[in-house]
Amino acid sequence: MVERSMIAEKDKWDLTNIFKSVEEWKKCVDEITGALKDFEAFRGKLSEPKGLSKCLELKYELDRKVKLVLLYSSLKSDEDTRIGENQALRGQFMQLMAMYNAAISFIDPELIEIGEDLMKLATEDGLEIYKQYFDDILRGKKHTLDADKEELLAKMSEITSSASNIFGMINNADMVFEDVIDKDGNKHKLTHSSAAVHLKSEDRILRESANTNMLKEYEVRKNTIGQSFIENLKKDRILANIRNYNSSIEMKLSEDNIPLDVYTNLLDTIEANRESLYRLTDIRKKVLEVDELYTYDIMVSLVKDSDSDINYEDAVKTVLESLKPLGEEYCKKAKEGFESRWVDVYENIGKRSGAYSFSVPGVHPYILMNFNDSIHDMFTLTHEMGHAMHSYFTHQTQPQVYSSYTIFLAEIASTVNEAFLYEHLMATTTDPKNRVYLLNERIDNFRNTLFRQVSFAEFEKRAHELAQKGAVTREALNEIFLEINRKEYGPNMKFPENSELGWSRIPHFYRSFYVYQYATGFCASVALVEKIKNEGQLALDAYLNMLKGGSSKYSIDLLKEAGVDLTTKAPIEAAMKNFASLVDELEQELSKI
Ligand SMILES: [Zn+2]
Repeated sequence: MVERSMIAEKDKWDLTNIFKSVEEWKKCVDEITGALKDFEAFRGKLSEPKGLSKCLELKYELDRKVKLVLLYSSLKSDEDTRIGENQALRGQFMQLMAMYNAAISFIDPELIEIGEDLMKLATEDGLEIYKQYFDDILRGKKHTLDADKEELLAKMSEITSSASNIFGMINNADMVFEDVIDKDGNKHKLTHSSAAVHLKSEDRILRESANTNMLKEYEVRKNTIGQSFIENLKKDRILANIRNYNSSIEMKLSEDNIPLDVYTNLLDTIEANRESLYRLTDIRKKVLEVDELYTYDIMVSLVKDSDSDINYEDAVKTVLESLKPLGEEYCKKAKEGFESRWVDVYENIGKRSGAYSFSVPGVHPYILMNFNDSIHDMFTLTHEMGHAMHSYFTHQTQPQVYSSYTIFLAEIASTVNEAFLYEHLMATTTDPKNRVYLLNERIDNFRNTLFRQVSFAEFEKRAHELAQKGAVTREALNEIFLEINRKEYGPNMKFPENSELGWSRIPHFYRSFYVYQYATGFCASVALVEKIKNEGQLALDAYLNMLKGGSSKYSIDLLKEAGVDLTTKAPIEAAMKNFASLVDELEQELSKI
């Protein structure tokens, strides 16, 4: 790996488009800090149209600046995490953020206090654009308590993430995994990140060893982890009760105004369509030539050494070619992004690992990559460009108040891009081995983003239901988890010792009712791709409008207008049909090699 200074400018992102220098960044921080006291003048005056309009104007002007400050400090510190000076920028931002939040904290409670009259205010000059924002605030009224009770809750909020923090310490700091052993008897280190590598290995002894040693450590800590998760369930139950919700799930889904039907439809539809998944288990068993298929056999690729090389320039060309079905406007902007240094392409010493896209209004999107010349990386690249394009369209179209989209919509544009890259590669690849590789990647996408997350979502639902009844125990959680997993993989999958503890490894469970959105987003993207392919321009325009919508309407409505109604089973059924045809195709291609 090289030092950052050795990488060509054209392959690094251009932060001068945010601030010319760290000095300018600091100047902006001072400006914001200085302006915060101006909010005081509006306290208690928000029921007057003029005061309200001026206050919100200030709020969103500063919100824009705060986000630019955040963007710059984050990207700067990710370039080389060894540089203390850049890390310090992040610390300064956190301070600024706390001050900003404190300064604006009176606004929402005061608006809730105004109540229904808010909608009248929304008809006044300069306030029309806030109609959706006000509606969203009023939605919470029923669940907002008296000011003194809210203050008490706010004081308690510091400990609402205790369970999650404790789990984080056990999981990241305390756990030490026994070394794993490969087929030649060599030892390898086992960590959370190396586990994923070992489980993809063609060496079955190594895979089994990784799985065994990983779960063994969770077995040792089963009482502590079990209790920390149960405490987390309790916290949600208590909060839901205090805030007048019928259940934890209702409380969490209402944050983005998602109807409960969306959740239950997802679970029910997958429940009724499991044959293709079971077929996949059988195919895998045959291809790997094993007597029994175990859960540690599901991550290894069905074709050997097939992830052929592709350099960055060719990957960009291929991605742009694949995006053509998304129309000229989309492709032109994506091309411009690649050419004008939105992307930080290669690894360097100290650079943050992984990949992400980060965008705020007022400047173009940014993408962090660690591009390593593989097909897999090309998929990551188009995925992140999807996020970037979603942000770009939203920021071009929406005022600051609606300039961010919800998590519920966040993984749609990224997976739509991936689907089109997959389609493009399949259309231009004839070699059966390479086709199996691509099919396997796509099927893994379905497995990881849809089926796995639905299993997790069902586990969460049942765990919270048990907590609601006061009947949750560690043993009950184990039993549910194993039962759900057996349903996911079918009768021909074998579960090694301690598999029932799998749930205790998942940090996401501390963000209750979060993971189902991976699954709904993925189904929506499959449905949207079908629509764009079959219905052409109208469907495409509707899709682009959703990308331009930000949070100007509720997510579920933005999606409906794009032609996907997640309160019905149709989009999930469409995804299942698509999956079944992938499994068919996999079977056919495998017979050719
Ligand atoms: Zn993503």
